[in-house]
Amino acid sequence: MNSVYIEITNVCNLHCSFCPWGKQGGFLPRNFMTEKLFERCISEAATVAEQVYFHVLGEPTLHSHFELFLKKMEQVSCAENGGNKLQLNLTTNGTTIARCGKALLASPAVRQVNFSTHAYAELPFEEAAVHLKNVLDFCKVAATERPDMYINLRLWNAGDESSKGWNNYMLEQVNFFAQDTAGKNGKAHEPITLEHFCSRHKSFLVDGRIYIHQDSRFEWPPANAAPAEKIIKGNCRALDTHCAILCDGRVVACCLDYSGQITLGHIQQNSLAEILNSPAALNIGEGFARQELRHPFCQSCTFCKRFK
Ligand code: SF4
Ligand code: SF4
Repeated sequence: MNSVYIEITNVCNLHCSFCPWGKQGGFLPRNFMTEKLFERCISEAATVAEQVYFHVLGEPTLHSHFELFLKKMEQVSCAENGGNKLQLNLTTNGTTIARCGKALLASPAVRQVNFSTHAYAELPFEEAAVHLKNVLDFCKVAATERPDMYINLRLWNAGDESSKGWNNYMLEQVNFFAQDTAGKNGKAHEPITLEHFCSRHKSFLVDGRIYIHQDSRFEWPPANAAPAEKIIKGNCRALDTHCAILCDGRVVACCLDYSGQITLGHIQQNSLAEILNSPAALNIGEGFARQELRHPFCQSCTFCKRFK
């Protein structure tokens, strides 16, 4: 398994219209993972995977223990990876980067930072522009202080006409940034435009290990879907390459299952290896291997189709 998604909080400070948190106006039960549960999650994650994320739903940097959790990550060795340290791929909306950027740059546990900059398309322009500036300021420092760190500027809103104005502005700023950084080293490339992105070319290098990535928006599968009456064909990488632990300790199959529709066990009660080898988990995984979506939540999922 590559990674375990550990939802350290389900709370977010934005309300994107395409996200369950935004759709429900932030009225989901708010939860922040306790320190004890977090310690259990990372030590269990290290027995099956090499990398973790800190989200399913929510903005991880809002957790008051965020920096403490980075420190704890630095101490965990990974059985799957020859005893190397467990690494973090952080996905953040970037609105707190001016506050937490220094800690991210200083932590050897942080391998990659993904900025969900598509979220800014729904904000008032002045606010969005400030967030983007802070993100690009972070990228600038990272390019010199942490050249090993991967950074992804995500625009996961391809095809959404209402985001086009924002996307064009963002690309303009990213091109200025590239001129300013890569340009100084004589490595500047042609400006990136929206027309450059297509289904075969979704990611472009900005500078060093900084990329811009466009993809389509994904739909969160509906909760409490009724089981299909016939076999639904399809497969998914969940339970093979990743699984997730919600902020209350429920172990679920994938990073879309914020409401625990496919709860396979509780990390407080069993090891992650035991839960991943439970009959329920094995049945779902066997279904994927046979091109069958056996769980009702998977049967209504469109996200897995993007990897075909
Ligand atoms: S930033 Fe992410 S978690 Fe927050 S509302 Fe938007 S999509 Fe949801
Ligand atoms: S098919 Fe969809 S809902 Fe099911 S495990 Fe995969 S990503 Fe999750």
